[in-house]
Amino acid sequence: MKIEAKYDIIIAGGGLSGLSLAWYLAQGGYKGQVLVADATFAPTNDKTWCFWTKDEPPFKEIIYKRWKKTWVSALDYSTFRYLNEYTYYCIRSGDFREYVLTGLRSFKNFDLLEDNILDFSSYKNKAIMLTKGGDSYLANHIFQSVLKPKNLDADDIKYPLKQHFLGWEIETNETAFDPETFTLMDFNEDFSPGVGFMYVLPYGLKKALLEFTVFSEDLLPRKVYKKHIKEYLYFHFGLDKSDYKVIRKEDGVIPMEDRPYHPYYENNIINLGSVGGQTKPSTGYTFTRIQAYTQQLAEQLVQGKSPSAPSLSKLKYRYYDLLLLHILSNSTEESLQVFRSLFKKNHFDDIFRFLGEQTSFRQDLKIMSSVPYTPFFKAIGNNLPFLG
Ligand SMILES: Cc1cc2nc3c(=O)[nH]c(=O)nc-3n(C[C@H](O)[C@H](O)[C@H](O)COP(=O)(O)OP(=O)(O)OC[C@H]3O[C@@H](n4cnc5c(N)ncnc54)[C@H](O)[C@@H]3O)c2cc1C
Repeated sequence: MKIEAKYDIIIAGGGLSGLSLAWYLAQGGYKGQVLVADATFAPTNDKTWCFWTKDEPPFKEIIYKRWKKTWVSALDYSTFRYLNEYTYYCIRSGDFREYVLTGLRSFKNFDLLEDNILDFSSYKNKAIMLTKGGDSYLANHIFQSVLKPKNLDADDIKYPLKQHFLGWEIETNETAFDPETFTLMDFNEDFSPGVGFMYVLPYGLKKALLEFTVFSEDLLPRKVYKKHIKEYLYFHFGLDKSDYKVIRKEDGVIPMEDRPYHPYYENNIINLGSVGGQTKPSTGYTFTRIQAYTQQLAEQLVQGKSPSAPSLSKLKYRYYDLLLLHILSNSTEESLQVFRSLFKKNHFDDIFRFLGEQTSFRQDLKIMSSVPYTPFFKAIGNNLPFLG
């Protein structure tokens, strides 16, 4: 086998996880040779990443918008809620790419490679990346976010749910949105099969991203997502199609996987990001977990230590995820009742603390006791033995 070049580290995939790792390595003063590879480094705004934190947000220079107030609605309950401790942020993928790549280009020990990656393999204590161009690259460690691990067993998924959505970023002719209030979830109780809701990120008085999102096993024909967005614009904002233009579209399918992910693709090849199983199964949020893990990896590598696999969520959170997935999979009506009570009886900071897996057992009990018991008892009955 002809080796094209040798590196200390190869970061395969220059999306959120790959570029976050590269960024933290460069900022931490990593001295080894690094190759970052992706099919393309074009800075496209095809994903809008939102997250909440009470600390200083990562990549604060490129935060596109932040909110302290949200609108939620489930069944007969709708309300505005304020965030005190937390702030909800969004970063656009194109801005992120441009920012990180501009920074990386000033570091002489970082190379960029545009090529399609075909596979990885381990050889002795080295890792190899094979590209479509027919070249092989050797490194001590590869961190990859491009290929799903081969050893994932389809039978291990108990609830094969997906979070799938289509988003339209629109510009209106007249003032239409309150830029201070984002809509986290506005449930559509008439939608079936699955649980459907609108997610709205208002960027300005005349500009917003509206996503029709569904938790279900099967995807929908594209025209169905479009229909829901159009209807929402009409019934909630009084906007007809002549009142706005669609300036960007964004879609996605995020597996809400309850199966364990193996952290290694092969020896010395660590899976990062979505293919590393870093998505929280019950919500689809991944951004914060990616930041935490890539920061930890970068610190280890800068200090010359061996990189460790990501730590799993605490058992209690994995169990809560499983219960919520059971409810989402089995009953739209019960799912909406759970969200209704969650929104009505809890402060939003507590909800974000819970979803961010930062709660004490006492705080968990407070949240759990605020939602109807019956769906959870049924879910527990279906998930005994514990995580079995
Ligand atoms: C539209 C969308 C919106 C999302 N919004 C949120 C959100 O608001 N909050 C949140 O927490 N999570 C969100 N997620 C989930 C998750 O945070 C993102 O999917 C995130 O981009 C995952 O990062 P990643 O590094 O694993 O993958 P990516 O960011 O997708 O990076 C993978 C990279 O690999 C490259 N690549 C793939 N295959 C190859 C190949 N064969 N050869 C070479 N390169 C290849 C791609 O070009 C890409 O740059 C969203 C997901 C989607 C799809």
